[in-house]
Amino acid sequence: MAMPHTFSAMTSLMQPWPLTLDKILTHAARWHGTRELVSRGADGVVRRSNYAATFARAQQFSAALRAGGVQFGDRVGTIAMNSAAHVEVWYGVCNVGAVCHTLNPRLIDEQMRYLINHAADRWLVADPMFVPLLERVLPRCPTVERVVVLGETPAATIGGVAAIGYEALLGQATAAVVWGDFDENSAAGLCYTSGTTGNPKGVLYSHRSQVLHTLLSLSAELMGIGACDSVLMVVPMFHANAWGIPFSAAAVGAKLVLPGPRLDGASVYELLETEQVTFSGAVPTVWQLLLEYMTRNRLRLSTLKRVLIGGSACSEGLIRTFGDEHGVAVVHGWGMTEMSPLGTTAIENKAVAELPRAARNAQQLKQGRVPFGVDMKITDEDGATLPQGGTVPGRIKVKGPCVVGRYFRAEDEEILDADGYFDTGDIGVIDNYSYLHITDRSKDVIKSGGEWISSVDIETIAASHPKALLAAVIAIPHAKWNERPLLIVQLKPDVAATAEEFLEFLNGRIAGWWMPDGVVFIADMPLGPTGKLDKKLLRVRFPALPAA
Ligand code: AMP
Repeated sequence: MAMPHTFSAMTSLMQPWPLTLDKILTHAARWHGTRELVSRGADGVVRRSNYAATFARAQQFSAALRAGGVQFGDRVGTIAMNSAAHVEVWYGVCNVGAVCHTLNPRLIDEQMRYLINHAADRWLVADPMFVPLLERVLPRCPTVERVVVLGETPAATIGGVAAIGYEALLGQATAAVVWGDFDENSAAGLCYTSGTTGNPKGVLYSHRSQVLHTLLSLSAELMGIGACDSVLMVVPMFHANAWGIPFSAAAVGAKLVLPGPRLDGASVYELLETEQVTFSGAVPTVWQLLLEYMTRNRLRLSTLKRVLIGGSACSEGLIRTFGDEHGVAVVHGWGMTEMSPLGTTAIENKAVAELPRAARNAQQLKQGRVPFGVDMKITDEDGATLPQGGTVPGRIKVKGPCVVGRYFRAEDEEILDADGYFDTGDIGVIDNYSYLHITDRSKDVIKSGGEWISSVDIETIAASHPKALLAAVIAIPHAKWNERPLLIVQLKPDVAATAEEFLEFLNGRIAGWWMPDGVVFIADMPLGPTGKLDKKLLRVRFPALPAA
C-alpha cells in the first residue's frame, strides 16, 4: 500500500542561527583579532586598535549599559565622528539588544532636540567636541539619564545630565554579558532621514536586516571587500549607517581606517597613503576636495584601488580623474537611509562590458543595477508599472529584506504600495541594460512646459567642467514655461569663468530646451548635514532669475 503524502509544512533540519550582529564582531575577534582599526582623533593623533580589543571593549561597554539599567529595546544615542571607540559603542549597544541611534552632529539644536526626544534616548555617547552642543540641547531632553564622553573625563554634569568619561566607565564594568540570545528581528539601529521635507523620519533596522545587508554588501555586485583590504570609512557613522561598513569590514577582517572629523583633502590624502588604503567610500564632495588638493600639489595615490561614490550623483570628471590619472576604479552607487542604505551600483554586467568604451563610460554615470536582495520597479504617478527601457522617467520603488516597512513611531502610517514596494522619492528610468538612471528627487523636479528637466543630469555635466568645484540646478518660476532651470556654480579656488563658458560646455551635451536660463557663481555652495547640496537654501537665496 502506498504511503500517504503529508502536505503539512516541514521544518528544516538545519541549525537555527539567528542573524544577529554580535556574531560579526565575535567572528572578527576570533579569526582576524590582530587586524587593525586605526582612528584619527580631532587632535590629529592616530590611535591603533584591533578587532580583538574592539570585541573586549564592546563587551565592557555592554556590561556598563546593563549595570546602568539600560534594557532590551532602549535607545542609546551617539553623537560622534568615525573612530574605533564609536565602533565599540555600536556593537556594545546592539549586541545586548539595545538600539543604537546615530545622531548627525551637524543638525541645528532644535532638530537635535527633536530627534533625541522622538527616539527617547536614555543614554547619549558623544565626542568631547560635541559637549557644548549637549550643554545647549539637553536641558529640554527629559529622557536622557546619562552622557558618556568618549576619550575625556567630563564635568560631573552636562546640560543637567550626569556625565562620565568612556574610559572610566569601561574601567568600572566587570560583569560578563551574554551577547545575542534574542530574536533576529529585534531592533538594532535607528537612523533618521535627513528630513528635507518636514520632520525627519526614523528608520529602525533589525539585526536580521543589518546582517543580510552586510552579506549583500560583501558581494562583488556591491563593495566586494575582503580580508586583504584596508578600508577608509569616510562616510560618517551618523549618515545612513556608514553604508554598513563597520559591519562589512569586520565580517571579512578588513583593516578599518577611521578619519574622525578631518575630511579635508590633505587629511584624507595622508590617511590613504600612510594606512595603505585599498578601498574607500564617501559622497562626491569629499572626493572633489581630495582630487583638487592632489592636483594642486601634484600628488599621486599609491595603494587605492576602488572607491564607492554615492549619496549624490557622481560627475564624469570625478570618474575620469580617478580612473585615467590615478588608476582608481570608481563604483558609482545609489541608496538611501531607508534601504540600509545600499541599493544599486554601476558595476558592469556582461552586456555593458561588451559595449564600446564611450558607451561603457556613459553607463558608469548612471546609478546602476540592483543586486540580489533588492527588488525594484518604476511606476507612473498613478502607480502603474512602466516598462524597462522606456524614456519617460517615473517613480522608483523598492522592496527587500533591508528596505523600511514603516517609520519609527509612525507605525500607523502605510508607506508601502499594495505590492509592498516603498516609494524612494527618486525619479528615474531603468534602461535596457537594467541600469537605473536617477534624474531627480521628486521634490526637486523642474517641470518646464509640462516636461521634466533633469536637474541631476545638468548638475553632473556642469560639475565636470574643469573650472567647477560644485554645481547645483534649481527651478525658478517662469511666466510661460512655469519653471526653468538656473545653474549655480562654485568655482575651484583662484579661477574665474563666465556664464557663457558654462553654457557653451553644456551645449550639445544636453537637450536645447534644458539649457539653464541663467548661470550664477557663488563662493559658498550650501551643503546639508550629510554633505549634499542644500537646494532648500539655494531656493530661498535664488527665488527668481538674478538680474544680469
Ligand atoms: P540619504 O538617505 O541621506 O542617504 O539620501 C538618499 C537620497 O540621496 C536618495 O534617495 C537620492 O535622492 C540621493 N542619492 C543617493 N545616491 C545617489 C546617486 N548616486 N545619484 C543621485 N542621487 C543619489
